[in-house]
Amino acid sequence: MLNLVLFGPPGAGKGTQSEKLVERYQLGHLSTGDILRAELKAETELGKEAKKYMEAGELVPDEVVIGMIGKKLDNTEGIKGFIFDGFPRTTAQAEELDRLLEEKGMPISGMLALEVEKEELVKRLLKRGEISGRADDQNLGVIENRIKVYQKETAPVMNFYKAQDKFYSIDGIGSIDDIFDRLAAVVDKL
Ligand code: AMP
Repeated sequence: MLNLVLFGPPGAGKGTQSEKLVERYQLGHLSTGDILRAELKAETELGKEAKKYMEAGELVPDEVVIGMIGKKLDNTEGIKGFIFDGFPRTTAQAEELDRLLEEKGMPISGMLALEVEKEELVKRLLKRGEISGRADDQNLGVIENRIKVYQKETAPVMNFYKAQDKFYSIDGIGSIDDIFDRLAAVVDKL
């Protein structure tokens, strides 16, 4: 199995590049942000619980997010692995993911981290907000908080994969196709 963590701050291009990786490598796409937005839209209990965190640009508690992922890993029909997009976002999530994948005998192959500086992230997110209507992409304060939360709580997850020699840094500036070529060059070696 090819199990990839696609990592990076909000607006780094994880969703866009995930779609292309899914197609090229026949992977299942697991985006915790997408799952949470679907729960919110369907007004489930989980969605209602997650709403206040998402609107403020804070992280949804680990136990909620980890609970969501577990079941999804059982469905491996027709795919050659998974791409984890926007997950893990804390070291506790990364530890739990390792434990779940170890149980199934399909460890993470590598973490690909898209590097983009803050000014560019803010620009991209505001533009995405205009197109998608995502509330958390339309408020500058929320955007800045998401980037701050990323730096404080999520960036340390890189160290978790560095320690396992599974970390790959990718320049996230350029055209979508150029960035995809950089990602694919790493994935092809995994
Ligand atoms: P995203 O679409 O990945 O930018 O996620 C949108 C929002 O969902 C985030 O700002 C968080 O509030 C929440 N979220 C998504 N994934 C996670 C996660 N792995 N852990 C905690 N919160 C998450």
